[in-house]
Amino acid sequence: MKKITVNADTSYDILIEGGLLKQCGELISQAVKSKKCAIVTDDNVDGLYGDIVVKSLENSGFTVSKLVVPHGEESKSHRQLIALYNFLCENDITRTDFLIALGGGVVGDLTGFCAATYLRGIDYVQIPTTLLAQVDSSVGGKTAVNIDSGKNLVGAFKQPALVITDTDTLSTLSEEIYAEGMGEVVKYGMIRSLPLFEKLSEGSSRKYLDEIIAQCVGIKRNVVQNDEFDTGERMILNFGHTFAHAIEKAAGYGNVPHGKAVAMGMYMITSAAEKQGKVKKGTADRLKKCLEANSLPHEYKISRDDLYRLSIGDKKRTSDKIRVIICAEPGNCEIITLSLNEYRELINLV
Ligand code: MG
Repeated sequence: MKKITVNADTSYDILIEGGLLKQCGELISQAVKSKKCAIVTDDNVDGLYGDIVVKSLENSGFTVSKLVVPHGEESKSHRQLIALYNFLCENDITRTDFLIALGGGVVGDLTGFCAATYLRGIDYVQIPTTLLAQVDSSVGGKTAVNIDSGKNLVGAFKQPALVITDTDTLSTLSEEIYAEGMGEVVKYGMIRSLPLFEKLSEGSSRKYLDEIIAQCVGIKRNVVQNDEFDTGERMILNFGHTFAHAIEKAAGYGNVPHGKAVAMGMYMITSAAEKQGKVKKGTADRLKKCLEANSLPHEYKISRDDLYRLSIGDKKRTSDKIRVIICAEPGNCEIITLSLNEYRELINLV
């Protein structure tokens, strides 16, 4: 079993290995004091893993209640959040008890934000079951729900008490959802690790899943430890995301999956910056080959006007400047600040 310890606001472990779900009761016993918890999961994941998790918890002496929400982004809503608060009250979950998020990013974000706010904050454990959640959303303590005005606009920083990553759960993911997670995985190679990038370029990631996930989580851990509350370095995790958010908006949310939009955003900004000489020659091509080897797209048809307009609303913008992340070569990234004119010039080269 691989164990990665995060020393943030609180310190906690991320455990990675195939088959961990069956041992989750025992593992959680070592990380939390209470013997009472509520599981939050969705209707897809519940059918696959709900019973395994409940059984393991009960065998370790836990009293367990479970709320199953519909799968999909719609469940990351304040309506679902209020339903969850009421469920916890009905099941007598007190300040010393804890929540378990069993599922992908939607369940993790909803449960995490609930844990941050219910009774002014209780513990929660993440059991991520998608690649995207395992390498990204379950690590780092960002939690949120969506409101009508936009995604993730109401949230909190709340680190989990433990993260249990059972890599066997990835075997039930469709190629489509798996490829989507690979978008963020390639991102980690680009921003921080040439060896990881080179390994991914071979296109046989499923063979080394535990290792790859541990490397991604290790990179994210290091970045989050340096900048837990997202005021500086943590921004590098947004490589490819400024364009990705514009692509997602242009396509209508949900039509281009996030990981694929990130793949396209990374290539588009790298190829434009390469034309300006900010990136080592040949880097965009290497990135394109790596994306292709992982069944990921690299380009999206969007007009430069739309790309500009839809991306300057991004969180990374201050009044007249925008910060973007550029990788001068795989494994090596920097944050650069551009005036809006310079940003427009960059986009004209996409
Ligand atoms: Mg992302």
